[in-house]
Amino acid sequence: MLKELLLQFILSLLPVFAYQLWYDKDRGSKDTSLIMSLLGGGAMALCMITSQSVHGYELDFRLIPYTVASLYGGLPTLVVLTIVYAVFRIPMLDNLSEFVIFSVFIIIFMMGMSATLRHFHRVSSLRKKRIGLFIMSLICLYYALTFILYFSVQQIQFNAEIISSLLISIVGTLLAMWLSIYMIESVREKKLLYDEVTRVSANYRNEVEKLQQFIDETSFAVVLLDREGIVTHINELAIKLLRLKPEFNNVKLLLGESYRDIFVPELAAAYEELLQKALNGDRETLQPYIEGDKILLKSAFSIRSTVNEQVAGAALLAHDVTEINQLRDEVGRMERLSLVGQMAASITHEIRNPMAVIRGFVQLIQERSGQTHHDYFRIVMEELDRVNSIISDFLSLAQNRALAMEMSSLNDIIRDMKPLLEADANLRGQSLLVELGEDMPSIMVNDREIKQLLLNLARNGMEAMDEKGILTITTEYKDNVIELRIVDVGVGIPQEKMNKLFEPFFTTKTRGTGLGLPLCLSIAERHNGRIDAYSTEGKGTTFVVSFNIHTQEVGIAT
Ligand code: ADP
Ligand code: MG
Repeated sequence: MLKELLLQFILSLLPVFAYQLWYDKDRGSKDTSLIMSLLGGGAMALCMITSQSVHGYELDFRLIPYTVASLYGGLPTLVVLTIVYAVFRIPMLDNLSEFVIFSVFIIIFMMGMSATLRHFHRVSSLRKKRIGLFIMSLICLYYALTFILYFSVQQIQFNAEIISSLLISIVGTLLAMWLSIYMIESVREKKLLYDEVTRVSANYRNEVEKLQQFIDETSFAVVLLDREGIVTHINELAIKLLRLKPEFNNVKLLLGESYRDIFVPELAAAYEELLQKALNGDRETLQPYIEGDKILLKSAFSIRSTVNEQVAGAALLAHDVTEINQLRDEVGRMERLSLVGQMAASITHEIRNPMAVIRGFVQLIQERSGQTHHDYFRIVMEELDRVNSIISDFLSLAQNRALAMEMSSLNDIIRDMKPLLEADANLRGQSLLVELGEDMPSIMVNDREIKQLLLNLARNGMEAMDEKGILTITTEYKDNVIELRIVDVGVGIPQEKMNKLFEPFFTTKTRGTGLGLPLCLSIAERHNGRIDAYSTEGKGTTFVVSFNIHTQEVGIAT
């Protein structure tokens, strides 16, 4: 008898074992109804087939898989299993009263179960076990009642064996029920825990990757250490800026190394002191640090755990401020220059008036003195004119005010200037070649300034050439850029002088002012353009002035 009940016990647990295997294989829970119907139906059928008869009373555990599978499979499983149960059970019923009892049981069971199912999946596993045991207790009660009823109707004497079978099957049922729910819940909890761990570790990996990306992209050299001083993160910039031992030329090689081993020996002590302080919990302030031609700002600080404020590591940051420093120096220099320029401009302006008076009187004296000293007067006048033109150039260079601009065609301006430039060239025995591009768009310009720019560049070209030299002026429009080229075949410019060309007062000519090119540059910049110079000594020079149509429009709009 005990053997048969043990078999029933094991059979009733079969769906749970099978479910565990299935669930472990990570099928998730979407097909639970189907799998529970199959497993529950199979186990019920096996229980019923191997059912143990105690004097004609069927004693088996079929209700365990029925209940457990329905609880976890939901309403569809309940319906399927009820059908399976009815199909197996009804042919075995002996009379009408048994059929009535069976039907009433099924109806009550289904109603009770469907009410339970509504919230079963939401409650804690402890409550699930309680619900399971509660249902099973009711069922055991039903068993006991029908058992007693059956034996009284059949008028069979109760003996120790009958009573012990009943008691064993009640205990077995409750135990099987508790075990079923316990096992299913534990496999689910395990899965939940596994999912949670996977999610947390994915998040962690994500955060670490983000941190590494940030460290890689930042403009700081970064070294992160753990509490033991082992490098956990480092970026390429750190390899470039901090002086590490030459063998550590790769981020991967540095990870896992102690900070004591990575710096070149002459700096090791300084870095060790800095980082050791940080690892001891001190915050080090910024330290400027000059290395070769670079100025670095470096700082180290401790990283603390958010949980207990304990030092969890240290970070070393270094920032290359060389450029910022240079820029600051440059801005200071510009400011000083601009001040000097403004003062000079106002003084120069004041010189103009007395000069105009001098020139007027010189002219008057010249007229009155007839032909005597005519040459001297001519030289004085010419020099006065030259001073005046230098002053004009200087004042245009110093001027900063907004210009009156209008849409106009570069080609038209060049055509206007052509006779003047030709006359200039002819006087020197040189010739002028003008090739204007087609379909040139108009641009916003100040006519007077562009004429001045053209004149300065053309004159420089002519002055660099000997007789018979040809000066070529071309225009071209491509890729939204209008280009003006002034090409001479003159002496050219030595390489070492190229970067001085646009400095005010740089000149190689005895009667030069050195203001022509700076003025051209400031005109081009006022038009949102640029000037490039290309030169080969002995062969000639090309100046290219380019105006970008788009930036030009933007320039005007702002
Ligand atoms: P300036 O003509 O009064 O000397 P610029 O600013 O116009 O002043 O030119 C500065 C210097 O640049 C010139 O003295 C000359 O040495 C050089 N330079 C300018 N343009 C040319 C050129 N086309 N060919 C050779 N040298 C040039
Ligand atoms: Mg010049």
